[in-house]
Amino acid sequence: MSEELEKEERMYKSIIKTIKQAPLEEFYASGHRTCQGCESALLMRYLAKISGERTIVVGATGCMYVANTTYYTTSWVVPWVHTQLGGSGGAALGTAAALRALMRKGKIKEEPINVIVFCGDLGCADMGLSGVSNAMTYDYNLLIILYDNESSANTDIQETSMTPYGAQTSFSRPGTARRIMKRRWKKSVVPMIIAGHRNVRYAATTSPAYPLDTLNKIKKALSAGGPTFIHSLDPCPKGWDYDPMYSHELGTLAVETGIWPLYEYIDGKIIYNEPTKGIVEGRIKRKPVREYLEKQGRFSHFVEEDFEHFQKMVDEMYESWEIPGVMPIKSVELARK
Ligand code: SF4
Repeated sequence: MSEELEKEERMYKSIIKTIKQAPLEEFYASGHRTCQGCESALLMRYLAKISGERTIVVGATGCMYVANTTYYTTSWVVPWVHTQLGGSGGAALGTAAALRALMRKGKIKEEPINVIVFCGDLGCADMGLSGVSNAMTYDYNLLIILYDNESSANTDIQETSMTPYGAQTSFSRPGTARRIMKRRWKKSVVPMIIAGHRNVRYAATTSPAYPLDTLNKIKKALSAGGPTFIHSLDPCPKGWDYDPMYSHELGTLAVETGIWPLYEYIDGKIIYNEPTKGIVEGRIKRKPVREYLEKQGRFSHFVEEDFEHFQKMVDEMYESWEIPGVMPIKSVELARK
């Protein structure tokens, strides 16, 4: 069997169909210091569970680093490396290249070792983006996971390019002169990765509120080979200002309202997942975005026109984008219709 076919086999034939098929072992253990209801912590648990013991995790400074590697303690059972805030791409590349060199020289056993790098929205989509892009251009096996809590949460909820329209952060407080301080729409990172790096075989969006979908996406990314990328939207009770018991509900509402489309990019094709599939195919009606926004204190200053603007922007994603929820640029043919 050719190497390519073997990769396909690994990617598609080992899908987890029920939660009972998920591995029992935990490589992200209890005792970490994330906030109650932190969905990023759940994402770390999923990635460690699926990747198993032959894994090195590399983390850029952020919530998940501050909370998981406090001096003399760690919740990581597998080896881990800390890199500075913008260094995740370089550290990913360096780790994968070092493993390949050590194996080639016969200094360590030749075997698959997963290199998984996680970085927050500030460390991945803002200051770390150039390094991530660089890592995506080389032919090394590595997975970069962007855990997105829509702020720089470890430094007191600061605005980032991932902060949604109008959300309150310590840098975007509503005032009397201007109610909406964050006026730009959230950046779409997966489309940037797939449009700009043709060699990437697998990239996806995910949400810890959909465990099977998330576990399978991490599995597929690791078995696809080459550099791969996953962007996860992780509800954050501290930064989004809600009771921790609603984390799961907010994760599902983000998808059901259409704000956070779930999809995979596999070898040039977009595949929609979970409710997003039904939404794009017209079988499921999107819930009003108000249901999601009203549950979070960071949008408590919204008045009717803000809800309407938010809804209009989400409607556009599905009604006038060339690829619904993914690509905003229309081809000439479609634009003429
Ligand atoms: S601030 Fe948010 S992302 Fe950070 S540990 Fe707390 S809940 Fe998780």
